[in-house]
Amino acid sequence: MRYPFLDLKESNKPYMDEMSAAAARVIRSGRYIGGEENDTFEKYLANMVGTKYAVGVSNGLDALRLIMRAYVALGIMYPGDEVIVPGNTYIASILAISDAGLVPVPVDADISTMNIDPSLIEAAVTARTRAVMTVHLYGRVSWDERMAEIARRYNLKVIEDCAQSIGARASVIGLNGGVYAGSLGDAGAFSFYPTKNIGAVGDAGAVTTDDEQLATTVRALANYGSDRRYHNIYCGYNCRLDPIQAAMLMVKLPHTSDENADRFARALAYSRTIRHPQVITPLLSAQVTDNVWHQYVIRVTDGRRDEMMERLAQRGVGTDIHYAVPPHKQPCYESLRHVSLPVTELLASEVLSLPIGAGTSVKDAAEIGEIINSIK
Ligand SMILES: *Cc1c(COP(=O)(O)O)cnc(C)c1O
Repeated sequence: MRYPFLDLKESNKPYMDEMSAAAARVIRSGRYIGGEENDTFEKYLANMVGTKYAVGVSNGLDALRLIMRAYVALGIMYPGDEVIVPGNTYIASILAISDAGLVPVPVDADISTMNIDPSLIEAAVTARTRAVMTVHLYGRVSWDERMAEIARRYNLKVIEDCAQSIGARASVIGLNGGVYAGSLGDAGAFSFYPTKNIGAVGDAGAVTTDDEQLATTVRALANYGSDRRYHNIYCGYNCRLDPIQAAMLMVKLPHTSDENADRFARALAYSRTIRHPQVITPLLSAQVTDNVWHQYVIRVTDGRRDEMMERLAQRGVGTDIHYAVPPHKQPCYESLRHVSLPVTELLASEVLSLPIGAGTSVKDAAEIGEIINSIK
């Protein structure tokens, strides 16, 4: 491939020396679980996101699971309670809900943002609805006045899936006055999976919140459910953040805005170049900071997506599909098979993600755009 979809070695190349030094520091320290590396990471992330607390955990799915489990442990939600969630998301958002014994209620997407359609949320609220999980998919903030209003009116918790949106800024202030993804609702879940905008060298994640009780409960649940040594108040898990990953992330987190700005420049090059009768480029909002371009997702209409993918591959352009099968159509969710989400289902057949990671230059993006234009 002349234009690989993503080359993770390229993402880490600028940080190689600092990361190696940080790894050596952890190895020499003799402290391999928790400790100072994690404390530093948590303080930095909380400050960056604008929440009182950040709790480092094992990965993004666990961050979401721990939030949901914590609400159950605290008696704020009960098994069988419903959580509204976008149908167009990565399955992890929904797994976290069902894992806690809660019922995911998937709501269809807005075709232009590809995020949850805020105008459909209220109709999905029932007497058992306790929360809305908003997912800032592909890096675009999914938060507006309507969501805030519904959350307040029906007294719903708002959980943010920020796996793809570190550093994204909303144009509407959050429930507690925050502006960054992860500070808009009651709790935010981050993933530092290696392919994310800020990726670890393995799995890592975090929970952000202003709610002290939630932070304490998440921390306890992630450490066997113990509030102090050999004292278990919950039947918990081992979902702790690896300090080596905390150290890796402390090298990269300070560069989040630069990394995101580079992604935006590539996105702009695509949007300026691509002119194709069957290709719809993603919405470019006036508010440039409300999207951190985790993915640049085009839609290929008239049933030509798979053909476009293949022809791009022939010309040396790697692409990917996020996501080819929506969660409610996955074999594990028999219970959701009756749900009809026409926009989500259409998107699954049309979306195509173009290279936008560190290995792709602005020039590459313009060239890939021209290759797309030349495919008749
Ligand atoms: C990656 C991702 C997750 C899960 O994060 P992991 O760290 O891979 O467990 C959850 N939700 C979304 C939207 C994601 O993209």
